[in-house]
Amino acid sequence: MFYYIIASSLFLISIIIINILATSLKPLLFSRYPIPFLIILIVITLTFAYIYQRKGVGAGRNITRKLHPDESRKKYLLTFDDGPSIEWTPRIIEILSENNLKAIFFVVGKEAEEHPDIIRKMDEMGMEIGVHSYSHKPLPFLFTGGIRQEIENTADAIREITGKSPRYFRPPWGLYNKEVLDIAGGNGMKTILWSRSSIDWKESDPGKIRNNVIEKMLAEEILLFHDGCKKGASRGPTVKALPVIIEELGALGFSPAGLEYIQ
Ligand SMILES: [Zn+2]
Repeated sequence: MFYYIIASSLFLISIIIINILATSLKPLLFSRYPIPFLIILIVITLTFAYIYQRKGVGAGRNITRKLHPDESRKKYLLTFDDGPSIEWTPRIIEILSENNLKAIFFVVGKEAEEHPDIIRKMDEMGMEIGVHSYSHKPLPFLFTGGIRQEIENTADAIREITGKSPRYFRPPWGLYNKEVLDIAGGNGMKTILWSRSSIDWKESDPGKIRNNVIEKMLAEEILLFHDGCKKGASRGPTVKALPVIIEELGALGFSPAGLEYIQ
């Protein structure tokens, strides 16, 4: 609660400062140098959007974004958010098991309660089931009770279905604050973000999803995909891209990492 008030106050103060700057500087700069002003504005916005899409936001010591380095081999870890989806998750699990791969699924509590059979299957297949949130809300904007409910209700749902306590947590949209991290940590979970996003939430072309992962792929990446989506939307492109990505990563000398690399 304390942190929420501080964060909200800082947010308000920054809005006021931006407003003052905008009203005093914008007319001056915009009327004199309209094109450079607009270009700088666009570049700043796009840079932030680029970093956010791929890396998530915020900083903190208790967050894992990359695998631990290992000089002897290049490796990767697959993670999937927003499921379980009755339509797409079983297909993704099938692809993974065909390739003898394990992944972390960061599930939405509400969906997990609706599809306990898929959660059970994930568990049987050796997949790791982590907490995403109960209803995919932006957690830093909630009060303490709301954050607790989102995280703990999901952990309870997973525990009830599998008999195991979740060990990993990923906040929706990668948005968090200290309170979110503390509550997840207090419930025995490590917060895991990602180092490379497939951006499959946006792409409808499997080739582009493949490019987002394969091009510039580094040695210790935690890869972000989505198995869940809004009703009526499709994860078909992810399902199509995944086998290609797995095969190409293997051909490029990358091997799948165990969870010991995020401990
Ligand atoms: Zn999500």
